[in-house]
Amino acid sequence: MKNNFYNYPIFKLKEYLVSQGFKAFSADQIYKWVYEQKVTDPEFMTNISKDLRVFLKSNFSFNDLELVTRQGSDDTTNKFLFKLNDGIVIESVLMQHDYGLSLCVTSQAGCSMGCSFCASGLINKQRDLSVGELVSQVVSVENITKEKITHIVVMGTGEPFDNYDNVMDFIRVINHKHGLEIGARHITVSTCGIIPKIYEFAEEEIRVNLAISLHAPNDELRTKIMKINKVYPLNDLIEAVKDYFEKTKRRVTFEYILLRNVNDELSHANELSDLIRGINCYVNLIPYNTVNEFGYKKSEESRANRFYQQLVKRGINVTLRKEMGSEIDAACGQLRLKNLE
Ligand code: SAH
Repeated sequence: MKNNFYNYPIFKLKEYLVSQGFKAFSADQIYKWVYEQKVTDPEFMTNISKDLRVFLKSNFSFNDLELVTRQGSDDTTNKFLFKLNDGIVIESVLMQHDYGLSLCVTSQAGCSMGCSFCASGLINKQRDLSVGELVSQVVSVENITKEKITHIVVMGTGEPFDNYDNVMDFIRVINHKHGLEIGARHITVSTCGIIPKIYEFAEEEIRVNLAISLHAPNDELRTKIMKINKVYPLNDLIEAVKDYFEKTKRRVTFEYILLRNVNDELSHANELSDLIRGINCYVNLIPYNTVNEFGYKKSEESRANRFYQQLVKRGINVTLRKEMGSEIDAACGQLRLKNLE
């Protein structure tokens, strides 16, 4: 079987080429053809040797993901359903912002984190996505839309820190100057709080943005709605975030979904501001997107505003996010694994 080219961060491609008797610098040339020029037929890679072209052709595949459907409610949000080689269907969501084009990528087929409000957890994790399947989401959407994606959020189905190594290699590919060259500051990884990986992430050479799905200001409530909190409780999580900031000096985002009468009281806003006081961060308040299987409702606008104002009053950097894509079930927490059968 051929190797999927998109599985290779450049350092691994170099290692592989060298092990086969080729020169390491050829990897730079191949990267430029594939990612900069969008040329995936080795025959046309005119500045590399005939031997290497033949080798590439017989050893590598450069296929896009198979598009099942594209749904777009409006010009601003589009959902792409892609079928993987083993028949699993995943979703990627493209969002048009005033600052550019952002793609929300899926990191796992299904999710085993079991957050009580999120549709992605309705089907347990089937498997991790490979590096190539992550990269191909970006390449395929660029090929379909003929547009350059400028921002990546790893916030689709799955827990990126439960597929850490592949997600990091994915970031290495899309960030590389001869890869898709998406700036580290334009890449965000969101985690429900897998603490050991937050420490590891802080040591990485590539410094992309970190978002933490917080959603509750105390252990009792957080454990009730996010079972990961039993394993990795809040105080330890906050410690890890502080360590991350100390090492990287990068501001952290806390995501907080507003669930009606669950976590949207003024007292919760106060607890939240006490919890994160002193951390260089900002809080992203997210309107809850309905998932029919669960009983949660989104907070009324007045309650959401009251919560927001309370955080402002207490000196927290906070934004109240607008909803995108909920009409096509492409909004956060509405992505679920689709099986065609
Ligand atoms: N597993 C990662 C990334 C995927 S979720 C994480 O937990 O961060 C991306 C964001 O959407 C998370 O903050 C998640 O908690 C949030 N989310 C999940 N379900 C949602 C829903 N129904 N409405 C709004 N946001 C939701």
